[in-house]
Amino acid sequence: MIPAAYALINVDSAQHNLQMVRRFAPDAKIMAVIKANGYGHGLLRIADALLNADAFAVARVDEGVRLRKAGIKNRIAVLEGFTCGEELDELVAYCLDAVVHSFAQLEILESREGQDACAIWLKLDTGMNRLGFKPKEFNAAIQRLSQCSIIRKPISLMTHLANADDKQDAATLKQISLFNDTLAGLAPGLSPKNERSIANSAGILAWREALTDWVRPGVMLYGISPFPDSAGEQLGLKPIMSLHSRLIAVKSIAKGDKVGYSGAWVCEKPTTLGVVAIGYGDGYPRYAKAGTPVLVNGRRAPLIGRVSMDMITVDLETQPHAKPGDPVTLWGDGLTVEEIALCADTIPYTLVCGVTQRVQIVEKSAL
Ligand SMILES: *Cc1c(COP(=O)(O)O)cnc(C)c1O
Repeated sequence: MIPAAYALINVDSAQHNLQMVRRFAPDAKIMAVIKANGYGHGLLRIADALLNADAFAVARVDEGVRLRKAGIKNRIAVLEGFTCGEELDELVAYCLDAVVHSFAQLEILESREGQDACAIWLKLDTGMNRLGFKPKEFNAAIQRLSQCSIIRKPISLMTHLANADDKQDAATLKQISLFNDTLAGLAPGLSPKNERSIANSAGILAWREALTDWVRPGVMLYGISPFPDSAGEQLGLKPIMSLHSRLIAVKSIAKGDKVGYSGAWVCEKPTTLGVVAIGYGDGYPRYAKAGTPVLVNGRRAPLIGRVSMDMITVDLETQPHAKPGDPVTLWGDGLTVEEIALCADTIPYTLVCGVTQRVQIVEKSAL
């Protein structure tokens, strides 16, 4: 029996994608970004599949603690760092690297005793205007950190790119130069022992200048393209997740009939309609437009009507013999998650991260 909504996870592809990162950045160490439940693929599942990464990165302290409790020994960086002393204590207790991006964090560090207890990544804001010290603040931050006994030295240095997915946008080169120039201005205070990190997936794939001691791939590890104009497979990546369900009803409807909530779809001709057991309650995007492709028995059928919580409706013109129980793929198997994201005015990141608890996870090797 084909289960109702399920996500097929091919963990073996994670290793392939990690090798692709190595091919693009052969001299860099790899910090595999597995925040947000491994981009929806399962935090521990992905960590286990990528144990040969040089480090992991998560967003929050509790994600790092979960990895440690599961026995993960790799270096783990917490990208949002800490906001209070208790969180800093947890970072130290679980041997997690902290990203330090604000003076408020510096004050907490200065109030703490301890020797070489916490490895840190000092973050420079080169234009994203989210986290990080401004260039003119950076020297002061480094000076104050050098007085903190709790900090393990040498510290590492990082910044984050805001526009690297736009290969034409000069903002990326500006950010990279600002990072390099700011650090060069601090010589001889810094040395090559202070390792540096700039690139996310788009930086790794499109901006050679962003390749330094460490790279921080996220989305590409899951086989997904960071660019709006390509899919992961075109970049040599292998998607890990595909999303599936099945038809639960097939019916004929007449010209003029309305389909779904608010009757948003009006049939222009007699139509064979299929009802699929997937909806926004599973993480299928509520704003997928009419015409968004769905694979029914491996063939494309367009979405019609509104996406509801548990169901969507499709036009079965391409396969009039389809019947309840037939397999449906929402993304995967030649229908890329990147294409579905475009149809729903979103990015593929949100689709894989948004798959909900209700969706059964099936590991491909277990099939
Ligand atoms: C999420 C994140 C990454 C990974 O980004 P991708 O676009 O998924 O490769 C890298 N660095 C930081 C600071 C992040 O927050």
